[in-house]
This record gives sequence, structure tokens and C-alpha cells, in this order.
Amino acid sequence: MAEQFDVVVIGAGPAGYHAAIRAAQLGLKTACIDAALGKDGKPALGGTCLRVGCIPSKALLDSSRQYWNLQHLFGEHGITTSDAKIDVGTMVGRKDKIVKQFTGGIVQLFKAAKVTPYYGFAQLQPGKVVKVKQHDGAEIELAGKHIVIAAGSDSIELPFAKFDGKTIVDNVGALDFTEVPKRLGVIGAGVIGLELGSVWKRLGAEVTILEALPDFLAAADADVAKTALKEFKKQGLEIKLGAKVSKAEVKKNEVHLTYADAEGEKSLVVDKLLVAVGRRAATKNLLADGTGVKLTDRGLVEVDDHCFTGVEGIWAIGDCVRGPMLAHKGFEEGIAVAELIAGLPGHVNFDTIPWVIYTEPEIAWVGKTEAQLKADGTPYKVGTFPFAALGRAVAMAEPAGFVKLIAHAETDTVLGLHLVGVGVSELVHEGVLTMEFKGSADDLARICHAHPTLSESIHDAAMAVSKRAIHKPN
Ligand SMILES: Cc1cc2nc3c(=O)[nH]c(=O)nc-3n(C[C@H](O)[C@H](O)[C@H](O)COP(=O)(O)OP(=O)(O)OC[C@H]3O[C@@H](n4cnc5c(N)ncnc54)[C@H](O)[C@@H]3O)c2cc1C
Repeated sequence: MAEQFDVVVIGAGPAGYHAAIRAAQLGLKTACIDAALGKDGKPALGGTCLRVGCIPSKALLDSSRQYWNLQHLFGEHGITTSDAKIDVGTMVGRKDKIVKQFTGGIVQLFKAAKVTPYYGFAQLQPGKVVKVKQHDGAEIELAGKHIVIAAGSDSIELPFAKFDGKTIVDNVGALDFTEVPKRLGVIGAGVIGLELGSVWKRLGAEVTILEALPDFLAAADADVAKTALKEFKKQGLEIKLGAKVSKAEVKKNEVHLTYADAEGEKSLVVDKLLVAVGRRAATKNLLADGTGVKLTDRGLVEVDDHCFTGVEGIWAIGDCVRGPMLAHKGFEEGIAVAELIAGLPGHVNFDTIPWVIYTEPEIAWVGKTEAQLKADGTPYKVGTFPFAALGRAVAMAEPAGFVKLIAHAETDTVLGLHLVGVGVSELVHEGVLTMEFKGSADDLARICHAHPTLSESIHDAAMAVSKRAIHKPN
């Protein structure tokens, strides 16, 4: 007999653990199943984000940033040191400790909220039953009045560059190199390629990023992308656009790459290759025949705006459904679905989901870009402010970047905030809040911001929207 629950969640990543904890908080008897194992071979909750994504990548970005600044920024402050060294083992060990702390933290959160965890691979059967193949091989069945699918995503593998975990790797391997590769090739100049490429560049690798598309960061504001590209090039990141890779051969611990750009066919030899060409929904073997749940041709679970699959009592959230593959998008969907199941008005505002790339300088945005507004025919006005004119940024010796605030030309309602510079992963939330409250550029301009802070850049950009900036000519 299958054990009965009100809610059975498949996947304990950001989307799944949020759904499970919120459902339990609302008094629903909840189970959450996850198949993943940590580096120690033991079950590890928290999904891609906590095990091999957001948190470990930020740990290494922070470590490598300290090392880079020691060599490239501290001198400007009059601080010099000689013979700086990086111990990759210690750095990766620190990252592993953080991962263990946070994956273990989910176990504690489940205990406190009274969510029952199950460890193994889950497959949805018809009739809202979930079959779980546990790590010891034993099979059990759980039945739920509601099922929430939060299976997440896996790296896309290129047919000519299969992952071997050592020389040709995805994010998992690139977070665990045992030494700094002399030459690192990266296929894909998206978020993961740029972040992990930055980590190893800062530690001394020669990094070449090959991107098939002709435009750099096409989803970002064009001026933001241009500034970021200029700064990355200054740091020595080699970024080749319009470079389509067709071959990757491992020969004696080297990878021989063949790619074509506008000038014709070229080759590149690297010691390690990171393939970061995107992620696909982890829906293989997830659904038995006859569940009624549909997959798109890209393998995503089909859902409506409220994460409902169209099959009574079955929902899907996070990376395995449409929308940006971001942890915080999954958080919000998890909470919304748990609330909808409990009869509350759960809702996600997809228009105010912030995007962040944790490079140096950081890149962040929320809302529409100028290009999108032009395409929509929406009249808009823009205010910008450069970090080079911002007291706090200059005092920090971090003057690269700017803020661009976009407001509706007639109503002054904020439509987008685009930033590149130090600390903008935090600043972008001024735009998120303003947009959530349907605020205007004038609202932001009239809100007192402490001096000297990085957030003043947003205040000045808001004033610049109506040509009354104080700290720059209008
Ligand atoms: C290197 C890297 C860095 C990233 N950095 C950021 C960042 O800074 N900010 C950000 O917002 N996002 C970041 N992301 C993306 C983020 O990790 C994902 O968007 C997020 O983890 C998705 O959450 P999820 O719960 O939908 O899926 P996942 O985190 O993928 O979790 C799904 C879980 O379900 C389990 N599972 C799947 N199928 C089954 C099954 N059939 N049975 C049992 N268990 C199953 C999996 O084992 C997994 O643990 C990063 C990703 C990577 C790879």
C-alpha cells in the first residue's frame, strides 16, 4: 500500500524544497523525494543550486576575487605583497564545506517543518502515485492528493564533446579542478561560462570563451553588455563571438578544438574544456505512461501561468518548466504552488524577476531593455549614472560600470533597471521593489539614499530621467 500524503514533491532543489516547506507550514502532510548524492556519495538535498550551482560557484568566485584583487587592485590602495599563492585544494575544500553546511541545512529545515524526505529516483505513475527507487535498490510508493514536479535541469552535452569529468567537463567538473589549468577553453559565453571562466582566469588560467552567437549577452541591455565585454577583455578573458565549435578531440591530456568564425576554420588547443551551452529539463524517465502530464519538444513539463499541468492535482515548477532557469524563480513558484494547493492566492510576477551575473563587474537587470521597448512600440525615457562619478565606487577603486533606469515616457512608471558595476547584484532590488509597487522614476528620485553608498547611483539615474541629475551634466 502506498503511503498517503497531501503533497508529494519530486525534487528537493530550490523549487522543490520551497514548495515542500511552505506546504508543511500550511498544515499539509508533505513528502519530498530527491535522487542526488553529494561528493561523499551520501544523499544531498538542495538541488543543483546548493550542490553544484549558485552557492559553490559563488564560493569560488569570492575566493578567486580575493586573489585577483590582491594582485590587481590592492596596489592602488598602497597595499603590496609579494609571492601571493593560491592553494586550490584549500579553496575547493572551503567550497565543499559551504556546500555541506547548506545541503545539511535543508535536512534540518525539513525536520523542523515536518517534511518527510525520501532518497531515491522518483517516477510519476498514473493516479497521482509516485514510485521511488531508493539508493539501496528497494522500491516504495507514495500517493499524494497533490504532486509537485520540481525535477530541475541537467547540463546539455554536445555530441562531439562528451563529458568525461576530467578534461571535458560541465559545471560539476569545473567547480572541482584540482589545480589551475594552464589553458581553459569554454564553449558558451552565457552566465555559467562567464562565471566559471572568470574563476579560473583570476587564478591564472589562460581562458578562451567560444560563443556561437554574434552578439555578447544578447538578453542584457546592449550598453551593459558592451561595457561588460570591455571590462572582461581588460582582465584578459579572451571572448570570441560568432565562433561555432564543431570538434573537440582529447589527445594526451589536451583538447584540440576546431571552430569556425567569420574568417573561416580555426583551431585551439586547451588543457581543460568547460562546455556551458545551456541546461535542459531533467525529465528523462520521470513520467510513466498514462499520467496525462505533457512534455514540450524541449522536454519541459507543460504548465500554465500558475504551474498547473492541466492534470488534476499535478503541478510543476522551477527549471523543468518554462521561464528563466534561476533559483529564485523556482523559490517563488514553489511557494505559490503550495499556497494554491492550500486554497490561498499564490502568484508569481514574472515581470519582476531579477537577473544577475556574478562576474567582475557584476551585471544585473530587471524589466525591459531599451531594445524590447522599441520593439513593443512603448514610449520611454532613460536616466543613466556612471560609477566613475559615484563617490563610494571611486573610494573603493571600483569605478567601472553604470546604472540605466528606464521609465515610461508619459506615466514615468519604472519599466526597467539595468546595471553593470560593483555590488549591482544587491542594487537591482531597488528596481524590483519599485516595479512591484508600480513606482515611478520620480518616486525613486525623491527617496532619500544614504551618502556615500553605491545605491546613490540609482537615485542619480532616477533624477537623470527628468534631466535633474546633480552629480553629472544633464
Ligand atoms: C554553475 C551554476 C551556477 C548557477 N548560479 C545561479 C545563481 O547564481 N543564481 C540563480 O538564480 N541560479 C543559478 N543557477 C541556476 C540554478 O541552480 C537553478 O535555476 C536552480 O537550481 C533550479 O532549481 P530547481 O529546484 O528547479 O532544480 P534543481 O536545483 O536542478 O533541483 C532538482 C532536484 O531534483 C532532483 N531530481 C530530478 N529528477 C528526480 C527524480 N526523478 N527523482 C528524484 N529526484 C529527482 C535532482 O536530483 C535535483 O536535486 C546556477 C546553475 C549552475 C549550473
